Formats: sequence, structure tokens, C-alpha cells
Amino acid sequence: MAGTDGTRACVITRFAPSPTGPLHLGHAFSALTAWDMARAAGGTFLLRIEDIDQSRARPDWEQQIYDDLAWLGLTWPTPVMRQSDRQAAYDAALDMLWARGLLYPCTCNRRDILAAASAPQEGAPLLGPDGVVYPGTCRHGTRTGLRPRDAALRLDMQFACQSFDNTALSPDLARTIGDVVLARRDMGTSYHLSVVVDDAAQGVTDVVRGQDLADATPIHMLLQRLLDLPTPAYHHHRLIRDANGKRLAKRDDARALGLYRDQGATPDDIRRLVGL
Ligand code: GLU
Repeated sequence: MAGTDGTRACVITRFAPSPTGPLHLGHAFSALTAWDMARAAGGTFLLRIEDIDQSRARPDWEQQIYDDLAWLGLTWPTPVMRQSDRQAAYDAALDMLWARGLLYPCTCNRRDILAAASAPQEGAPLLGPDGVVYPGTCRHGTRTGLRPRDAALRLDMQFACQSFDNTALSPDLARTIGDVVLARRDMGTSYHLSVVVDDAAQGVTDVVRGQDLADATPIHMLLQRLLDLPTPAYHHHRLIRDANGKRLAKRDDARALGLYRDQGATPDDIRRLVGL
């Protein structure tokens, strides 16, 4: 997408929070970084609400996201894409992968996985971006007929990587990441699948997100190839940490943007606090 003068025609960035708690300084840094990148390129900044986990998402947190970002001075096109409205798109992607025999149903729970992965012959369980690398217990289950709706679906990573030359992604995804869940039983989709389908649907050219998600990026790039979707540029930024060097989490309410605002901070103060 590079133009003749080296600039890209139309930069689209996004901030994609989950409405499961208050936004804190780390979110502000991420949103402002994506906003600044779009602005500098004369492009567009999008907001997307990642609310596939309906057991944790709450409308008041979603409203708080809009309020906090508006207070920071950000604007975005509306209507905002909300993942809870997007199941049809996720189903279409899952159907495509299922039809190619790349998915299999999995009935293991966390305890089963840990037990199988910790079996003496397996050595120490390997940790991937989603936790313990799945030991493959259900891999030989059925892959034909209608796509099951009442089970989790995992990607057969080995098979997926064989379908093209994956050396540019990561040489060993099957061992280091394993068969990730692409549809959770309780949600009918997953973070990895939804984020890839939606970044493509929104024409996102530049994904700006924290270093903590860098390990998920090879999974996303693989899914883009399998689903024939474009791969955006990925920018993983540093993480905002507390005084003890610990990464801020949603439960770090002390760093919630709303609290800074209530205490009289300005958006410029927030920029300074996160080093922008
Ligand atoms: N929804 C994810 C989160 O809140 C971010 C997704 C992404 O940027 O890829 O952590």
C-alpha cells in the first residue's frame, strides 16, 4: 500500500478494548498511540468494542469507554463495531476452516489439559499465548459433517501450517503455540478469530497494541492466510507499569482514567504520565 512518495494511501488504526472494567493508563497509552499514528498519516482511528465474552462485558463499562476516550480528545466514526453483533461473520469464517478439515471439536476442560500435558512422558508443560500448549487429546475426533455448535473448536496447527510455507511466520507454531481454540463452546467464537475477521472487515492497516499481545500475532497472521485476508502492519508498544514494575491490569482501579479525571487531571497530564 506504499504510495510513490513512501506514504501509505489510507492508514486505519484501531483501539479495541473489552468492556470488562475501567480503562486505565495502559489503555490510554494504547489508544493515544493508535490515534497519533492515524493523525500523523492523515488516516482514520477506529474504536471497536470487543464484547464476545458476554458473561463479563457490561453496558456501563462500555459507556465508560466512550466517555473516557472522548475526554482524552479522541473521536471515531460511528456506529462503533461491537463484536457481539458479528457472530454471522465469525460463523462464516469458522465454516470455511471447518470445510477444509482444519478444525476439530474439543471437549477437554482446563484440568484435563493440564493433566495430559503434565504426563511424565511429556516433560514440563509448554506455555503458549493461551496458556498450556494443548496436548492434542481430541485431535483425532471427527472433522466431517456439519460443524458442531456445542463444542469448542480447535485449529489443527500442524495441518494448518502444512497448507503453506509458514517459515516467515514462525518456524514452529505447532510446538510453541499448538492447537488454539477458535470457537469457545460458550461463545461460538474466540478472541483470535474475531480480532482477525474484524480487523479485515474494518480495513485496519495498522494494528497498534501492547507487547503482551505480540505472541498472539503469529496466530493472527496464520489465520489471515488461511482465511485469505490481508495482513496489517503490527506495532507492539511498550507496556505501562506500576511503581513495582508490574503491568497494569483492569483490576488496577487506582490507575483508572476516571479517577485521574475526577482528581482534576487534564488529558495532557495523562499524555505526560504515559510518556507521550
Ligand atoms: N480486546 C483486546 C484487549 O482488550 C485487545 C485486542 C487487540 O488489540 O488485538 O486486550
